Amino acid sequence: DDLYGASRKNSDGVEFGWAEERNILVRGMAKTTAPFTVATPLGKGLPAKGEPNPIFSPMDGTTKAGTVSFADKATAEKSMDVAQAGFERWSRRPVEERAEILAKVGDLLEENRDRLMTILSIEAGKCLPDGIAEIREAVDFCRYYAQEARTQFGDGRLMPGPTGEENRYRHRGRGVFVCISPWNFPLAIFLGQISAALLAGNAVVAKPAEQTPLIAFETAKLLYEAGVPEDVFLLLPGDGEVGAALTAHPKVAGVAFTGSTETAWAINRTLAMKRGPIVPLIAETGGINAMLVDATALPEQVCDDVMMSAFRSAGQRCSALRLLYVQEDVADTLLAMLEGAAKELELGDPRLPSTDIGPVIDDEAQANIQAHIDEMQESQTLRFAGKMPVGHFSNGSWIAPHIIELNKAEALTREVFGPVLHVVRYKAKDIDKVLDQIAATGYGLTLGVHSRIDATVKKVVDRLSVGNVYVNRNTIGAVVGTQPFGGSGLSGTGPKAGGPAYLTRFALEQVVSINT
Ligand code: GLU
Repeated sequence: DDLYGASRKNSDGVEFGWAEERNILVRGMAKTTAPFTVATPLGKGLPAKGEPNPIFSPMDGTTKAGTVSFADKATAEKSMDVAQAGFERWSRRPVEERAEILAKVGDLLEENRDRLMTILSIEAGKCLPDGIAEIREAVDFCRYYAQEARTQFGDGRLMPGPTGEENRYRHRGRGVFVCISPWNFPLAIFLGQISAALLAGNAVVAKPAEQTPLIAFETAKLLYEAGVPEDVFLLLPGDGEVGAALTAHPKVAGVAFTGSTETAWAINRTLAMKRGPIVPLIAETGGINAMLVDATALPEQVCDDVMMSAFRSAGQRCSALRLLYVQEDVADTLLAMLEGAAKELELGDPRLPSTDIGPVIDDEAQANIQAHIDEMQESQTLRFAGKMPVGHFSNGSWIAPHIIELNKAEALTREVFGPVLHVVRYKAKDIDKVLDQIAATGYGLTLGVHSRIDATVKKVVDRLSVGNVYVNRNTIGAVVGTQPFGGSGLSGTGPKAGGPAYLTRFALEQVVSINT
């Protein structure tokens, strides 16, 4: 009776406009200080060995966030055997038990909110509104998927059939799922993959991004605390080699991956080369996300939404706006407004409520984005470059917000994962060409349109097969259970995180037909 979860409520956030709520958070966070922990492989029988390497915060390059011992190939292989044994028992447990455990993980995340927020800001450079939104999303994933598991995976469904025959359609776990998650949502996406896989009855070996093992390690401990057995969930901090060893393992029953399109291709190749079961890849990758703004749009609203879509999380979201198409009649006005608004963005200590933009994830990312900006400056028009932080923070991995006007949309050929907004003008009569251009990128993750003309909105929405289309609003921050998130084409294999069909992608379908 509650198939679509209408009675479910998402978790509460922080009202940043209220000093009292802000202060409770800031005081709570002050109780956790870096360095936090030593992240090691976790799970039944896994050796916690390896050289501990220090992890420094991207905000200043000197604050030690903690240390990490990467798993090696032998540990990766062992973890798959352990998880295979764990799977046999876990998959036979009633769905209700699995759902209770994962719902408990949600509660534990809420109880540990301030500590998790501190780790997110120091290890991943997350600002408070972004980190709090991420913790909420992680909580919501646990509760939403737990509820979906209860409704969809209970006793299965009786199918119509002839008298004297009972046909039951049901789901079961596939085996050991390998979950490989990104540094940009090192808690929410990490846990979203794992919770879905576990609830569907799988065991999980998870490899978090090599930049963010600490938040993964802390979260892994909460999974155990909630009751996930140590042979059902195993954590392997590691680099790409560990990921490659896991996906190449003969016991892999499925892979959930969020990251670059390149890596998704590589995983696909690895899975294809194996002489064994043919297993699914659930991939969510990047995008060259566009937004169209026509002359009927409300400029103030557009300005707010563009700032948020392009610069929140320092542009390090798959959903972030990369390419803004503005109808030429309003382009000068809007560009002036955007430049004015971008000037107000504050870069600095991500733990302070006044900060809008934190660092990018590491020096490599910084160099990569900077190289793009340098290259663009040669042939395109730099409209705005923000100020870099000074003093203590100047040694961190920073990219100030940039606005670059392109002379043609094709000048942007790749996803640039940082606070760089590209703007291009278009003529009203060329809207079909614009839509063709967007389609030609091959990506299909998010798309924005700002227009008060219904026919224009309809044309844009119907023409492009993009996973998440946002009309007259920003294009980030998809809400669990409300805006299931994920795209297709170069942006992924299509499953929607936080949506009603996500769990089934992790499960096997089975029909039992009994002659009664
Ligand atoms: N779900 C996030 C959003 O809607 C983006 C996830 C990602 O960056 O991978 O902003």
